[in-house]
Amino acid sequence: MVTSNDFKRQWEEIRESALGAFEQVGASGQYVLGQEVRAFEEALASYWGLDHVTGVASGLDAIEISLRILGCAPGDRVLTTPVSAFATTLAIVKLGAIPVFADTDENGLLDLSRCRGLLRKRPDIRFFVPVHLYGHLLPVGELRRIRDEFNLMMVEDCAQCIGARSYSEIAGSAGQLAATSFYPTKNLGAMGDGGAILTSDAKLDLRARALRDYGQTEKYRHQYVGYNSRLDELQAAYLHRACLPRLARWTTRRRAIASIYLAGIRNAAVRTSAGPEGSESSWHIFPMFVAANLRNKFIEHLKSAGIAAAVHYDTAIPDQPALAQVSCELADDCANARLLCRSEVSLPIHPYLTDEEVGQIIQAVNAWRGGGIC
Ligand SMILES: *Cc1c(COP(=O)(O)O)cnc(C)c1O
Repeated sequence: MVTSNDFKRQWEEIRESALGAFEQVGASGQYVLGQEVRAFEEALASYWGLDHVTGVASGLDAIEISLRILGCAPGDRVLTTPVSAFATTLAIVKLGAIPVFADTDENGLLDLSRCRGLLRKRPDIRFFVPVHLYGHLLPVGELRRIRDEFNLMMVEDCAQCIGARSYSEIAGSAGQLAATSFYPTKNLGAMGDGGAILTSDAKLDLRARALRDYGQTEKYRHQYVGYNSRLDELQAAYLHRACLPRLARWTTRRRAIASIYLAGIRNAAVRTSAGPEGSESSWHIFPMFVAANLRNKFIEHLKSAGIAAAVHYDTAIPDQPALAQVSCELADDCANARLLCRSEVSLPIHPYLTDEEVGQIIQAVNAWRGGGIC
């Protein structure tokens, strides 16, 4: 079976460096906030191209803490997308703030012209959490103009877009802060949970460092009501020594597979998307779209050809039961988002796919005979 991720093949490749990293941490006798976390933060900052990185316990925490730093408080309105991992919205509602959902375009990314129209009418919206979904960057320059024009506090959700560019601009450089995740399936995945807050502002970075560690600015000095949200030494050493040195090559392979899919998939019953103009994607996910009423049949068809496809995501966030228990607002009918959640199918795109497997997947997609393109 061709699977969405292949951690076994990954382990074969990284085993030696991973065991070396674990040995290093064990021998150091320091397991929380030591030199491995610091070294990883510096290496990631230089890889990413932003000045400061603070490791935290998860992507969810990275978004929540970033919003806290920017002053997001109960009752504040936060513009965001209805199509993402639930964590994007969960970070907002955990602060008691109110998510405002604006519809996506037909490929699942936030529609920034729609956002502009909404922000003109709603000066009470002061916070914005855009998501670079699937690894495709929203236009960074346009995000920056929106931030300046409407005087917004912005946290970019970069959990899926490490290494991506938009017209050569870096992910996370439009918002005051950016958040990423090291959940195992992510392009840079830990062997457990982890995340990071990124910024080019040294003061905001200091605040992140304090908040992740009980709000301490120095030992036993609790300046803020903080969190216990620290990245472990073990995860940092593993990410830094076993994964980060290979990430550029993994990303190149993901991009190559995406190009082969885009060139090879020829079937009027399915739709693919190359991402927005100018986006040099990190291809965390390869989304494609089929008729909503035939999606399960399509997934079954792939399964019978030995391919395990996934779905990102099967329910628009405002339609999740948890959101009936808190305040949230729909800025419009979110019709694109809702249709997309019923028609999206994600093909495997991990870097360990062989050329034969990629060919097998294209053949199976092209052999699908489902009517009614979405
Ligand atoms: C994975 C993910 C998150 C959450 O990260 P965790 O580390 O699982 O908390 C948030 N946003 C997006 C877009 C994600 O893909």
